[in-house]
Amino acid sequence: MVATVREWVARDVTPNASALEQADEFPAEMVEQLKAFGLFGSKIDPTHGGLGLDTLTYARVVEELAYGWMTLSGVVNTHTIVATLIERQGTAEQKDRWLPKMATGEWRGAFSLSEPDAGSDAASLRCRAERDGDEWVINGTKTWVTNGERASILALAARTPEGITCFIVEKEPGPSHGGITVSRNIDKLGYKGIETVEMSYVDHRVPADAVLGGDDRLGRGLGDVLGALEMGRINIAARALGVARAAFDAAMAYSFERETFGRPINQHQAIAFKLADMATKIEASRLLVRSAAEAADAGRRADVEAGMAKLYCSETALEVATEAMRIHGGMGYVKDLPIERYYRDAPLMLLGEGTSEIQRMVIARGLLSRWQAEHS
Ligand SMILES: Cc1cc2nc3c(=O)[nH]c(=O)nc-3n(C[C@H](O)[C@H](O)[C@H](O)COP(=O)(O)OP(=O)(O)OC[C@H]3O[C@@H](n4cnc5c(N)ncnc54)[C@H](O)[C@@H]3O)c2cc1C
Repeated sequence: MVATVREWVARDVTPNASALEQADEFPAEMVEQLKAFGLFGSKIDPTHGGLGLDTLTYARVVEELAYGWMTLSGVVNTHTIVATLIERQGTAEQKDRWLPKMATGEWRGAFSLSEPDAGSDAASLRCRAERDGDEWVINGTKTWVTNGERASILALAARTPEGITCFIVEKEPGPSHGGITVSRNIDKLGYKGIETVEMSYVDHRVPADAVLGGDDRLGRGLGDVLGALEMGRINIAARALGVARAAFDAAMAYSFERETFGRPINQHQAIAFKLADMATKIEASRLLVRSAAEAADAGRRADVEAGMAKLYCSETALEVATEAMRIHGGMGYVKDLPIERYYRDAPLMLLGEGTSEIQRMVIARGLLSRWQAEHS
């Protein structure tokens, strides 16, 4: 699977990514190919039509997609978080209803936790759902919903009398559906070609069985959602690794081509040492992604490992993209080469699925509780 995706990325994605990204155009044909590979079912069990990939293989596939264009890994990511949530917490009936269509990519998923006044502090979210007979009525504003407009299925965190509850909201792809309106398409620095939108809910009605996991899980949604973000963080780490590798390879190739003072620039120690540091950090990133993916595959708690991988890989991606740009001199600053794209795409990984500051909090909290469990 990894080799197949790598080959396709080299042939069809890398040569076309910059033109699509500069036009901010949704990569419709590439998404069809992702469907054909079965990648929307990466983490869905084969009983529901998915590939049931282990996390390590999934992470390696994500890395290959991001090597060509980070946006492609984003198309798959929020979808996989939603699928993971349903796999883990959904009732048998909910899995039968949603997972087969998600596995083929016919239904694409979006993940909707963040709000204008609730990002890192997700527990302060205000979107609310009130029970009315056999239905729930949802009101509120969600923002940063990646894939929100094209999605057919949204995992939505909302406040209910019992606490925060996760709803699975079905919708028609497009700018509006029932009481849901895409109120703004957010114009971003990078991560182009994929929509990230603000969505408003005004008296939007969903059936009672839209509560993920049924009424037993009312008020337990925040824990469920944050648990699924572990998979999202491994995805972001792998994505960052892909971008860092792409930037490094470009810098390496350029360092042989470009000559100054009568020799290739990689013969100047200042440039060679940059390449050495970049390669070392990329290798460390690779090992951290593997460690997090293996912990998840072993069924162990992977909060610390996923947090470490996400923190280190995202910081590395930005550093490597910056150094790659500097190695390119003036050519790193023009749209003729993909270097400036890596430089604009990399910072997102510091933010999505929790900022670096939040990862440090997650890592520290996990370390302290593991220490106490082992030493008490
Ligand atoms: C392009 C893009 C796509 C996204 N896609 C999605 C999506 O699909 N679904 C979704 O739900 N969300 C999505 N997000 C939202 C993303 O998860 C949030 O932006 C992120 O969690 C940070 O929240 P915030 O932007 O509100 O920053 P804030 O929470 O306002 O943080 C501002 C700053 O304060 C720091 N900070 C906050 N609290 C603390 C603390 N306790 N200690 C130390 N520092 C702190 C932060 O690290 C940051 O530096 C997306 C964001 C972007 C930019």
